Amino acid sequence: MNLPSRQQLEEPEYLLADAMRLIREAVLITTAQLNPPGPEIVYVNEGFCRMTGYAREEVVGVTPRILQGPKTDRVQLDRLRRQLSLGEPFDGEILNYRKDGSEYVIEWYIVPLRNRAGEITHWIASQRDVTERKAVEEQLRYQILHDPLTGLPNRVLFIERLEHALSLANRNPRLNAVLFVDLDDFKVVNDSLGHEAGDDLLVQVAERLRASLRSEDTVARIGGDEFVVLLEDVLGASYVTDVAERIIERLRETFVAGGRELTITCSIGIVLAASSREPARELLRKADIAMYEAKRKGKTHFARELLRKADIAMSGAKGRGRARYQMFDPGMNARTLKRLRLKSALRRALVREEFVVHYQPKVSLKTGNILGLEALVRWEHPEYGLVPPSEFISVAEDTGLIVDIGRWVLKETCVQVRLWQDRFPSQSPLQANVNLSARQFHQPDLAGDIAEVLEETNLDPQNLELEITETVVMEDARATLLILGALKSLGVRLAIDDFGTGYSSLAYLKRFSVDTLKIDRLFVAGLGESAEDEVIVAAMIGLARDLNLTAIPEGVETFEQLRRLRELRCDVAQGFYFSKPLPTEEVGALLRRNLLGGGSWGSQNLS
Ligand code: C2E
Ligand code: MG
Ligand code: MG
Repeated sequence: MNLPSRQQLEEPEYLLADAMRLIREAVLITTAQLNPPGPEIVYVNEGFCRMTGYAREEVVGVTPRILQGPKTDRVQLDRLRRQLSLGEPFDGEILNYRKDGSEYVIEWYIVPLRNRAGEITHWIASQRDVTERKAVEEQLRYQILHDPLTGLPNRVLFIERLEHALSLANRNPRLNAVLFVDLDDFKVVNDSLGHEAGDDLLVQVAERLRASLRSEDTVARIGGDEFVVLLEDVLGASYVTDVAERIIERLRETFVAGGRELTITCSIGIVLAASSREPARELLRKADIAMYEAKRKGKTHFARELLRKADIAMSGAKGRGRARYQMFDPGMNARTLKRLRLKSALRRALVREEFVVHYQPKVSLKTGNILGLEALVRWEHPEYGLVPPSEFISVAEDTGLIVDIGRWVLKETCVQVRLWQDRFPSQSPLQANVNLSARQFHQPDLAGDIAEVLEETNLDPQNLELEITETVVMEDARATLLILGALKSLGVRLAIDDFGTGYSSLAYLKRFSVDTLKIDRLFVAGLGESAEDEVIVAAMIGLARDLNLTAIPEGVETFEQLRRLRELRCDVAQGFYFSKPLPTEEVGALLRRNLLGGGSWGSQNLS
């Protein structure tokens, strides 16, 4: 081949030829023939040969279809043909095949070449290999759709899959199920063993979940300790509940995390869907609601765990209040709505002063004397009548309104008890027991607030006992130590409420400088009936004695329960057997009798 002269090189054709040879893009020119047999390649540049592995002689004169293969996107090709037939440029990604059969992804840009008359004579296509960029994109897509910790799909991908499953159900009737799996008390693990151990546990949970499912099912992590499962095309509800049980069983087996053996439980909410009438997000929300219901019902009891730590033998005692699952039912939606309505009503209730305090006596089992009164708030609703705290405390907690309600209860109680102390003087002044909610407990200036109320009402701090539930106390042990310290320095007494329903650490119990353990009435209810409860209550009373704390069993309803408690050398108790919580007016009468009769409950009632 004769080398072009310098003069020739500067002529446009030569420049162009050289440029075509050197650019990285592959360039391809075909005839404009669109009808069969289709366009024919008339020119390819070196870049094309490098990219495809074909020599120029092999492709000139043949159809560009040689670049297509089984995985080439037909829809994209149709679009390409349509554009070209309209004489418009095409721009898009297409998967092509090299001569050796390997795949590569290119970005095509195809434009028509026209003659002076404006007729299309050729197509010129430039292609850029974007395989690498595609790989990066894939990687990114993976990251966007997966949870980095467990590698499970995340919420976005889960919703995508769920929507897909639902759309299939529209064409062909079939049943899908969504399971919302939430670990119970995961926060406790995180707080007590550290985040690394918590992460480790989550990874293992993810593995077990995956292992309990079919390969076609999806399990995703959508929140800290929240997992969701999609079961597609299931036979029926019983299949789904079997899966839920299997998951509960698998998660119940011992884990090792942070160098410790631990057991966890979970709560599962289930919703079934036969069509895509409902959006995916709505299904997820319903499964979530059902999960909360499961949690509420299955409130787990860790008494066994605690007693195990205390080295108290529990032979033959079986666990109770086990983790559970719950199917969604429309009633739950109604309850959620009701909560919403409650929220606004509660706000008005505070302004309208619709709250009242009832008091339940704390009774000495030695003398029958009333030692103190627990303040229990009620809502006197103008329409519904007396609403119990179980109906509104958690809503008030969610909205933060509990802080104001709680402060009101505290003040009201201190004023009232101070009055009674004056009217019914006794050697050991009446104590006031006031419940603190989680939200209140974590209020920044809780101690300051309480000090103010004590000051205003002139109640001796020693006569005020604050009740904090076990779960709240154990949630964040370090913060708890500080808060309890601040409260303690006011001189008030501290009680752990609903003892046995949370996850107490014995080590902390000792350090928390509490005065009282209030044994949850679930355990008291079993006295004389369940051997297991007998052991638990006995152990709790023993534990309190060892730690120099007062044990107060709650919910004593029968003489039999009282008798057992006395046998266990328990000194103080509370419950309907003595008195229901009473309105202010009736408490006065009770206290008068207490004063006159040397104990409201004479020895004949106690022994
Ligand atoms: P708690 O502090 O554990 O109070 C004991 C609950 O058991 C009270 O329910 C009481 O009426 C009930 N009870 C007492 N003796 C018996 C018995 O012999 N048998 C049965 N079945 N029940 C008995 P109540 O008044 O419905 O209060 C429920 C919970 O609401 C309380 O549990 C407490 O956690 C919360 N609470 C009540 N008042 C307040 C308050 O002013 N502030 C806060 N933060 N929480 C409150
Ligand atoms: Mg209480
Ligand atoms: Mg309680």
